[in-house]
Amino acid sequence: MAVPDIGNSHFCFYNFECQDFCLLFTRITVEQMTNSTVFQFTKQNLANIVSYKIELMNQHKRKELQAVKVISNDLLTDDVHYISVEKPFDFKAGQVVAIAMHADDEPRLYSIASGINKQHLSILFDVKPDGELTPPLSLVQPNDTVYISEPFGKFLCLEQPATWIATGTGIAPFISLVESARAENIHLLHGARTLDKFFFQDYLEAQLGHNYLRFCTTESNEKTIAGRLTSYLENTENLPTDNKYYLCGSSQMVIDVREILIARGIAFDNIIAEIYF
Ligand SMILES: Cc1cc2nc3c(=O)[nH]c(=O)nc-3n(C[C@H](O)[C@H](O)[C@H](O)COP(=O)(O)OP(=O)(O)OC[C@H]3O[C@@H](n4cnc5c(N)ncnc54)[C@H](O)[C@@H]3O)c2cc1C
Repeated sequence: MAVPDIGNSHFCFYNFECQDFCLLFTRITVEQMTNSTVFQFTKQNLANIVSYKIELMNQHKRKELQAVKVISNDLLTDDVHYISVEKPFDFKAGQVVAIAMHADDEPRLYSIASGINKQHLSILFDVKPDGELTPPLSLVQPNDTVYISEPFGKFLCLEQPATWIATGTGIAPFISLVESARAENIHLLHGARTLDKFFFQDYLEAQLGHNYLRFCTTESNEKTIAGRLTSYLENTENLPTDNKYYLCGSSQMVIDVREILIARGIAFDNIIAEIYF
């Protein structure tokens, strides 16, 4: 088995037994690898995901981190923060930055969650209690210093009409796109476990009206659709087959949604994903 490392927590490999690429979504050692711990993909599907991930990792490794001052740190829910920092460069809506607490730390990637014309650059993240970056990042105060790369990435969602699909903090690039007036002809579908996780929902509702749909799995109110976003995608009659579908969120969400969309007749090339590895 050839095992190229494609990030700080994920690996892909070519499995000679089943003659296909496999991708691991959990951090396990090579010795622990078995086929049952592996998600198997078609070559085209996986090659796309892996090459994008490798490209992102390589891009951020080539970029220097620079010091910026924290402007604000807002706690949106018990574990989700919206942090704004000085904006030392221009960016395109949908891009990511690499962020670290210190110049020589291994940075993590974050979608920019603010519009291109805003004075500051913001990110939206949830705290992984045993993660390296997010616990200290959640404690920063105005005027503290953090380290940030130039923006990069190709999740620009240029084509419309389109359906944008997010779960959790995967809403971040879409907030940037809406704030950058780049949401002319789109539907935005956001899935979350609880009602407090529809970040910036008042703003998104004001901007997108009925084209903004919220799916909540454990709670309900008059503004949300009860249940999983995936059930809606499986069952709705109104699924345009020639739109682009832009997906952002966890690996599992992207896998599930991609599978459903393909089963519903959406061409593979019309599904573009940003995965929060
Ligand atoms: C393109 C891209 C954009 C992203 N954008 C966002 C965004 O906008 N918002 C957002 O919240 N996240 C985003 N992410 C995810 C983000 O980069 C980080 O992975 C996340 O915030 C966790 O960082 P951390 O340093 O706190 O955790 P890490 O230290 O990276 O750990 C991540 C998880 O792995 C587990 N782990 C760590 N070490 C081990 C080990 N040895 N064995 C087993 N498990 C282990 C931890 O428990 C933790 O749950 C993005 C990722 C990518 C690739």
